Amino acid sequence: MGKITVIQTGSTLVSPAVPNRNTRKSPLAYTGLFQRRSNRIEVPVKCFLVEVAGRKTLIDAGWSAQDATRPLRHMGFGLWFASQPVMEVDEAVDRQLAHLGVAVDDLEAVAFTHLDCDHVSGIDGVAKARRLYVSREELEQADTPDPRYRKKFWEGVSFTPLEMQADPKAPFNASCDLYGDGSLVAYLVPGHSAGSVAYIAREGDRFAILAGDTGYNRASWEKLYLPGPVYNKENMEQALLWVHDLLEDERCAGAYAAHDPAVAPGIYEF
Ligand SMILES: [Zn+2]
Repeated sequence: MGKITVIQTGSTLVSPAVPNRNTRKSPLAYTGLFQRRSNRIEVPVKCFLVEVAGRKTLIDAGWSAQDATRPLRHMGFGLWFASQPVMEVDEAVDRQLAHLGVAVDDLEAVAFTHLDCDHVSGIDGVAKARRLYVSREELEQADTPDPRYRKKFWEGVSFTPLEMQADPKAPFNASCDLYGDGSLVAYLVPGHSAGSVAYIAREGDRFAILAGDTGYNRASWEKLYLPGPVYNKENMEQALLWVHDLLEDERCAGAYAAHDPAVAPGIYEF
């Protein structure tokens, strides 16, 4: 049986245009510029402990404990302004893993969907995992002067790049089988960021989608609502449609997005 433990590392205050860009006219509304901060909404920041084929993999790392104690210093003003963390120290992923009885050494890998601050800043608590996977495409983009990325989070950390292979069944003809047995496969979905991936975890003939920020809630996939932060709009539309179609497959156990308020923290078996 496959198992997904949903871990919530606090939440973030963002513009209402983050989960659904149709709430605001400006395409930059999701940054919160020129908006009253009192209008912000709180969305959860989640990561996922995936157990399939006898391996434990953490998908994303959420906020760091430092985002509870000194958020402005840890994140820098720009990132802090766009997505302010709301959390307690004990909500950091390493603390929650310890509470679940999972040592970082027990993790086969931490696999990131992308390198935005709310997914990677918690890396400081799990950097000792055997491997830290990120797509090569995302690493290359993060290496440019793009202000979206804060390299300080992963200073001294060595990532293992996910090397995409041609895959005609993948939405962008690119996938990477992490363990070579099909139990966890990364699919390139360059909509939210240049190198975003979604993971599919498989156990027997059942599978679950770890979507990252390819969709913020049910409406992203059911109604194909476009989220605010989009690197490539057409790619995002194509990626949302891909998740939408997968959800119609009766073998699909569901889609798990990092900021979906509808999926409560806890254990989901499939
Ligand atoms: Zn995010």
